[in-house]
Amino acid sequence: MQQLIDEILKDCRRFTEDGKVADYIPELAKANKSEIGICVTTGEKRYFAGDWNKPFTIQSIAKTIFLMLAVEDNGIDFIKAHVGVEATGKPFNAIDYAEPLLLRENINPMVNIGAIAVCSLVKAENYQQRFLRLLDFTKRITGNPDLKVDENVYYSEKKTGDKNRALAYLLKNSGMIEGRVEDLLDVYFAMCSVQATCADLANMALLLANHGMDIATGQQIISEKNATFMNAVLITSGMYDGSGEFATTVGLPAKSGVGGGIMANRPGHMGIGIYSPGLDKKGNSVAGIKMLEMLSQKLRLSIF
Ligand code: GLU
Repeated sequence: MQQLIDEILKDCRRFTEDGKVADYIPELAKANKSEIGICVTTGEKRYFAGDWNKPFTIQSIAKTIFLMLAVEDNGIDFIKAHVGVEATGKPFNAIDYAEPLLLRENINPMVNIGAIAVCSLVKAENYQQRFLRLLDFTKRITGNPDLKVDENVYYSEKKTGDKNRALAYLLKNSGMIEGRVEDLLDVYFAMCSVQATCADLANMALLLANHGMDIATGQQIISEKNATFMNAVLITSGMYDGSGEFATTVGLPAKSGVGGGIMANRPGHMGIGIYSPGLDKKGNSVAGIKMLEMLSQKLRLSIF
């Protein structure tokens, strides 16, 4: 297995040149697009190659964390009624939501507008507490107590995140969120700016692969029902508007982020963490998807 991981990384390194690093958050433009890493864990064994231990910001992978806690707090039916689960087919930062909001139609938890709404459903007394709860939970599911926010990315996004601000005000206008928009966005931006490695993502993915149970402690972190719900949402909309294509070529529940990370899992078997910051037009890591395609083909991982 280790040999396979080494070969896949070596073979996919050439694809790092094909992507483009995200630059709409200025700090992300500083990423080195030749970096590439992978970590696969079964709980008992861990395999890794390349820049697997290099921290990067999780960005949209935070949407998975918002949803995990929000669904534990509110239940699946509430989430479905509030934001829906249908794939939108729109880019992650699409802004044309005035009509769906007016009609109270689906906005999906894996695009920015839905994720901001879902973030507001994580129960807490105030925004600071909500952030601490989310960060603590992330430390727990990654098994990494040292996780922290990349302050430069956080401030960079806070300064330039007006599109997300517009989306949050649309939500506020339609009564979907309460309180100060700026406070909610602080939680959203800070969670997107949490730094993690491929190993952290692989651990987080393993929790979903293992039906919500932490293999190390035997503790049920999220309910089995909610873990199944999460994987269903990820397979249908975790890879932005590239989720359909990804389902046909890789066939695994996964979530990508514009920092170049991808967290994927094979239910019942393994968690996978990927990093390579060169992105395609949809915001997915080019070399990252190639690695997952190869891994899935070689090990026959597709769930279909
Ligand atoms: N913080 C990013 C944003 O809201 C996350 C986007 C992403 O990774 O897709 O624009």
